[in-house]
This record gives sequence, structure tokens and C-alpha cells, in this order.
Amino acid sequence: MPRVSATKPAANPSARKPADQFGGPWGALALTIVMPTVSFYLWSAVAQHGGSLWLPRSLADVTAMVPTPTWEAAAIFGVWLAVQAVLYVVSPGRVVQGWPTEHGERAEYRINGLLAFLVSAGLLVAGIVSGIVSPKAVLAQWGPLLTLCVLFAIVAAAATQIGGRSRAHLERFTGNRIYDFYMGTVLNPRLGRHDLKFFFESRIGMGSWGAFAILLPAAELEVHGSLSTAMLVVSLCQLWYILDFFVFEDTLLSMIDIIEENLGFMLWFAFLVWMPFNFTLQQQYVLAARPELSVVLAIGLVVLNFAGYYVFRDSNLQKQRFRRDPSRPVWGKPPVTMDTARGTKLLISGWWGLARHANYLGDLTMALVWCLACGFGSVVPYFYVLYFAPLLLDRERRDNAMCQRKYGADWDRYTKKVPWRIVPFVY
Ligand code: NDP
Repeated sequence: MPRVSATKPAANPSARKPADQFGGPWGALALTIVMPTVSFYLWSAVAQHGGSLWLPRSLADVTAMVPTPTWEAAAIFGVWLAVQAVLYVVSPGRVVQGWPTEHGERAEYRINGLLAFLVSAGLLVAGIVSGIVSPKAVLAQWGPLLTLCVLFAIVAAAATQIGGRSRAHLERFTGNRIYDFYMGTVLNPRLGRHDLKFFFESRIGMGSWGAFAILLPAAELEVHGSLSTAMLVVSLCQLWYILDFFVFEDTLLSMIDIIEENLGFMLWFAFLVWMPFNFTLQQQYVLAARPELSVVLAIGLVVLNFAGYYVFRDSNLQKQRFRRDPSRPVWGKPPVTMDTARGTKLLISGWWGLARHANYLGDLTMALVWCLACGFGSVVPYFYVLYFAPLLLDRERRDNAMCQRKYGADWDRYTKKVPWRIVPFVY
């Protein structure tokens, strides 16, 4: 059960933060407009233009990109949200402590995402098999559902921006309304004792992505009468990735989203729209364009996917285990480590001796596989890797700068020993 331990706030309650990320207020305004526009455009490309890029030529073209919400879409969204909320509150799971905030507080989280996801995925599959849920009918509501989720993100961001102002010392704002709307004004807003950010990232963002990865193949079967190899490859690989996320759900608690970013429009939109709708563009494209993928190529892509998965998972585990027990063998040998003035050691064995972020290489390999499975008929299904690669390249640079500040000269010694950033012997 999420709970805040009662420790005394340490910092100035209402300290204003500088509006210095993403190009400041103008950048925040631009992104608030661009993110929904891109999402509507991509939906339109797959749903209205056969999966191809297209150029709006009139105002009517632009307005056609934004479907009107329907009561059916609202019902689908409402039921899914309610099921996830109930499973979040009632499913059993171990309780872990989150990272301490800058005010010395540590919330508790019940880690029950795997069970919640398996139950909701099971209910969805049972609904489809029994005929209660028609994937074709859900598909017909895809556009209205997208509009509804965009509206929900806007309203939720406004509510947390206003509500955040009453969170006293948890409040982190700049005073610029546009920037604060985009970046949020509070780190971990709660409903009762439940952390909204954790719930919406894990259960709505990742959980809905998983649900769509099940619904889209089912819709293809219902609409076309057969399941294409491309659809099978993309959805199975993505479902594996999502399952892996829920198996290691507690690692989310140490990620930047949870410990650093306020819950503003950027994250609301990411969880409600960007992840479920845009990360499944490959399957939406396959449904529209039905590209051919030979079995031999499919097997090759699946092998590449799991090679990427192995690098991703093994490298992340190596670091986690090293942090818990620095003497634990890596790849069967005692680890080579480096002492630092900061007190924490750095690992120089295994993946962390080959490159400073081999975990990103694994993630990127999987992203590329999911796109390649769609062939070369359109750039639209490549959206995921085209968005993800710059994101991780930038993240590596930001993490490097952060480590440079944290470790100083020790980091320079480490980077001399491990010169490769992401791809050993290449980059
Ligand atoms: P990492 O797990 O790569 O962690 C970076 C931190 O690890 C550093 O800040 C440093 O922190 C520590 N560290 C760096 N080098 C060493 C070393 N040699 N030995 C020990 N500790 C070291 O960061 P991310 O959170 O960016 O990535 C985690 C995973 O999440 C990745 O696999 C990534 O691909 C994935 N990811 C996925 C996203 C998605 O949208 N699908 C988005 C972002 C990430 P310290 O020393 O303080 O411990």
C-alpha cells in the first residue's frame, strides 16, 4: 500500500525551480501542441491513409484527423481504467520503499503489476474468445478513444497543476503557467495513499500498451480472417518486453520518471497516449497495409529480438546485482571494480566493461526488430525506433554529464577504461 513515511520536510517548502528544460516556456508550449498533433497525424496515416505519410491540404483534412469522442469509447476507457484501479488496490504483492525524495520522504509501493497484468490480459483474452469483446468494435472506436485520452491528459494535467499547489512542501513549480502545465507542479501526487504517477505509468501506460498488443492481432484475425507473420512477430516480441517490465516492476521506482519528473502534461500524455497508441503503430500499420514477412525472415528477427533482450536484461541485472553485492561474480568471474571518492564502486566487468550503456543497445535492437518486421513499404511503422534512438542517445549524454558531476575525476578514469558509450568498438 503506498504510504508516505512521516519524516520532516527538509527543504524550503515553496522553492521555485527554474524553467530551464525543453527550451523553457516556449519549448513547453510547442511540445504541448506537437505531441497531440503527431499522435493524431500518425493515427490518421494508418487509419485513413493506408499507412502512408500524407499532406493535409485543407482545414477539412486537418479536422478529419481529430475524431469526435463517442460514448462507446468513453465506456471502453472507463471500464479499463476501473479494472486497472481495482486490480492495483486489491491484488496482493510485496511492499517496497521508493527512493527518498529531496524532502527525505519515502513512499511505499505494493508491487503487484505482474499479477494485475496477467489477470487483465486473461480477462481480455477470455472476453475475445467468448465473443463478449469484439476487437473489430474496439478498432472502430480507436480514433474516438485517442481523442478521449488526449482530452483526459489535458484535464488531468490541469487538475494536477492546480491540485499540486496544495501539496505544500511537495510542490515544485516555476511560476510560469505554461511551463508548469507541461512539466507539472508536484512530484508524486496521490489519490488517498496511492501514487498516481506510478499507477498511470505502470498500469495505464504499460498495461494498455499490452492490451493493444493483444487486441490488434485479434482484430486482424476478425477483420481479415488470418494472422500475418509480421503481426505475430511484433505483438509477441512486444508482449515479452511488457511482461519483462512487470516482472521487474520495482526497478521503475529508481527511474528518472518517478524520482525526478513532476506529473505534468508531458507524463500524463506519455502514459495515456504516447505509449499505448504510438508504440503499437507497427501493428496498426500491419492491419492497414498487410506487409508480407517470410517465415525465414521472421525467425531471423525473433532471434535478433531475443539477442537484444538478452543484452538489455543481462546488463541491467548485472548492475542491479552489483549494487546489492559488489563481490558477486560476473559472467562466472570475480568482478573488476573501481573505488570512487563518492563511496560507491563502479563495475568494469561484463557489459559494463564493454560499453557504458550496453543496456541501451539491447533496447534499441528490440525497437529496430519491431519496425523491421513491417518491411519497407512506409516510414510510419518506423516511428518507434526513430523516436527512441535519439531519446536514448540523448539520455546517454545526459547520464554521462550527470555521472561526471557525481564522480568527477573518477568518472574520467572510468571512461578511459570503458571508452565506448553504447555500442562496443563502434560508438
Ligand atoms: P541505467 O540503468 O543505465 O543507469 C545509469 C546509472 O547507473 C548511472 O547514473 C550511475 O548511477 C550507474 N552506473 C553507470 N555506470 C555504472 C557502472 N559501471 N557501474 C555501476 N553503476 C553504474 O539508466 P536508465 O534508467 O537510463 O536505463 C535503465 C533501462 O531502462 C535501460 O535498459 C534503458 O534502455 C531502459 N529505458 C527504457 C525507456 C523506454 O521508454 N522504453 C526509456 C528509458 C530507459 P549511480 O552510480 O548513481 O548508481
